Amino acid sequence: MKFSLTEHNMKTFLYALRGMGIDSYVTDRMSGLTLPILQKTVKGCYKCPLAETRKNIVFGEGSSNAKLVFIGEAPGEEEDIQGRPFVGKAGKLLDQLIEHIGLKRESVYICNVLKCRPPNNRDPDKIEIAACKNYLFYQLDLIKPKIICTLGRHAYNTLFDVDERITKVRGITKDYRGMILLPTYHPSFLLRNQDKIKEAWEDMERLKQLLKG
Ligand code: URA
Ligand code: SF4
Repeated sequence: MKFSLTEHNMKTFLYALRGMGIDSYVTDRMSGLTLPILQKTVKGCYKCPLAETRKNIVFGEGSSNAKLVFIGEAPGEEEDIQGRPFVGKAGKLLDQLIEHIGLKRESVYICNVLKCRPPNNRDPDKIEIAACKNYLFYQLDLIKPKIICTLGRHAYNTLFDVDERITKVRGITKDYRGMILLPTYHPSFLLRNQDKIKEAWEDMERLKQLLKG
């Protein structure tokens, strides 16, 4: 059988090759790695095809020594324009959740699994997550928060390399490499399913207690 590379395969292959260089660049220098250096690396990232359609990368923002890190899915339209996480409608709800814990947005850290926007806000695909997830792992290694709150199924599934439904795992704390992880619903899901807000509120109460303990 003749082996032929479609244009899409070829692109993915080339992106993967470029990615290898960047990964070893980051790994070789992990000892001196800081969030600003990692952010610079992500700015120049072409490891997956989302690099072609993004306006800006959305690295993440907040306190580099935050005790609590929120992890969403991927930038949406507004985030892509501004280069900042959770600044659209879902972001407003996240702000309220953070306020409910008694914290300020600047005192936590907020980021996503993917650093570039999937066209039309479609779900992240496996290739994109595989290409991007190391950046998230490095962010967590550098910040070392006490608590991680994953928003929606993608963040949870990426960290544990599983394929669970959010309704099954939500509200149950787990150990993630020495950090306490609490999965909750994604704010965009909450905007569409307002009957679930009560549970999200309970999760915020839980975060409050965990931060005190
Ligand atoms: N949804 C996400 O998952 N992340 C954002 O930054 C915005 C919306
Ligand atoms: Fe790189 Fe991640 Fe953006 Fe893909 S989504 S280009 S892997 S930063």
